[in-house]
Parts: sequence; C-alpha cells; structure tokens
Amino acid sequence: MRVRVSKVGLCSTDLALARGYMGFRGVPGHEFVGVALEGALRGRRVVGEINAACGCCPTCLAGGDRHCPRRSVLGILGRPGALAEELRLPARNLREVPDSVGDDAAVFTEPLAAALALAEACALVPGARALVVGDGKLGLLCAHVLARAGLAVTLAGRHPERNGLTGVVVEHVGPLERSGGGFDLAVEASGDPDALPALLPRVRPRGTVVLKSTTERATRVELAPLVVDELRLVGSRCGRFEPALAVLASGTITVERLIVARYALSDAERAFEHAARRGTLKVLIEVHP
Ligand SMILES: [Zn+2]
Ligand SMILES: [Zn+2]
Repeated sequence: MRVRVSKVGLCSTDLALARGYMGFRGVPGHEFVGVALEGALRGRRVVGEINAACGCCPTCLAGGDRHCPRRSVLGILGRPGALAEELRLPARNLREVPDSVGDDAAVFTEPLAAALALAEACALVPGARALVVGDGKLGLLCAHVLARAGLAVTLAGRHPERNGLTGVVVEHVGPLERSGGGFDLAVEASGDPDALPALLPRVRPRGTVVLKSTTERATRVELAPLVVDELRLVGSRCGRFEPALAVLASGTITVERLIVARYALSDAERAFEHAARRGTLKVLIEVHP
C-alpha cells in the first residue's frame, strides 16, 4: 500500500546505516507517520510496522513474523524507507493513528514499541529494581516503560537534565559507575560496546540483562560471571505497534519533548549531520508537515 509520508524520525540505526552498517543502500527512514493513499485506511493517518514478513513460512505461521527469514525491513533491509514523498508497506503492516495522537507523537510509535517490547523479553515485576544504561532516546523510553510498569528504575547516562522529559521521573545517577548494584534487571540501551561488561557485575544472581541496542564495534565480555551467577541475557529488538499507540493515546507520555530539531526533506543531509552530533535527541524530517 502506498503511504504519503508526513514526518520521519531519525534514529541511531539510520545513522549507522548511513555509515555502511549492514551494507544498506537506498532510501533510509523507518520511523514515520503518513497518510494512506490506498486500501481500507485510504485518507487516514497511519504508522507502519517496519518488518514486512512473507506470512507463509513456518516462522510466520508460528507468529514470529518479525523474524521471518524472507522479511524485508522498511529503510533497513531490502525495502526503500520513509525518507521520500511516498513509501510502500503491506496493508497488514499499517495501523491507523488515533485522532488524539498528533503527528509529532505518532512518529515515536516505532521506538516506543521497541521499548514496550521489554515486556516480551522478561517479566516486569512491580517493585523490582531496574538499571537502564543510556539516557538517549531509547534509554529514556525504556526507563519510562519500566517506571510505568511499577519497577524502581535507576537511569545511568550523561544527561541528568533529561530526567522527566517523557513524563516520569526516575533516579538518574549520572555515569554508570555510580549506579550501585544488586539489580534484578538491567537494560543496555546506550549502544556503547563497553556498557555490557560494566553493567554485568551490577546485576544480582539469577537477574536478567536485556540488550536493546546494537553496537557497531564488537563487545568483549567475560562470560564466566553469567554462568556463576546464572544470569539471563536476552536480546530484544522491535515491538508491536498496538500497545505503543495505546500508550500514546493515553497521554501518559510526552514523547514530543524529545524532539530537538526539524528539517525539510531537501535538507536531509543537514538533518543527518545534526542527528549524528553527540548527545542529540530526536531530529525529525518533515516531508509533508
Ligand atoms: Zn529506529
Ligand atoms: Zn515468513
């Protein structure tokens, strides 16, 4: 289905792809809101799940369409992305945006869905102590999701002034070295390959570590402590859009405050340069604002 693109959010994945990660060539962009030009949702504001699965292989039939071996991924793998006048996605990938959710918020559906996928990666037990490493876009969303689920969240990163931007205030301790120990759950959302070895000793025996960000450089980590302490190490990538849209519609998250700059599509190069500056939150490209 064709979608007229309204706005696109840039994320670290786009920047990594632009530097050659995964050998990607073509049109990037996967966090978008637009207007459907065809199909049942024609004329409606939509967002789109980025994994386009075949729908008929054993993985898809078992419900694992985000891991379909034949999938394409919008703006990431074998499918032109959202930084264009129009994009194409299968009809089943499109979700209508509720009227109460503006375009600025809707563009966060994909990254918020990725943060909400923490609930698929492990049990979110109210009262449990969670450490989120990284106070960039993804780390702030992960901290928000965990705090809303009732966990006691400690956020480690370089930007204490960002605490509360999304509408929940957590304990922000600054650099990871100050975060203490004994955590039930730790989430790596910094993209720093040195973060995992530094956070492992802070997790209690039989605790869980969730890896939310990919790193371009390989991580070197001593695995023996995982065996001795019987830690669970879980990878987590994309999430479902419905829960993310429901959270946005609930008005309990102020994602718009993460937007720091807007550029026209013709200025995409400058937008990428801005987004690549260290410590930049969300940069939007407005195609048809
Ligand atoms: Zn992204
Ligand atoms: Zn499939």
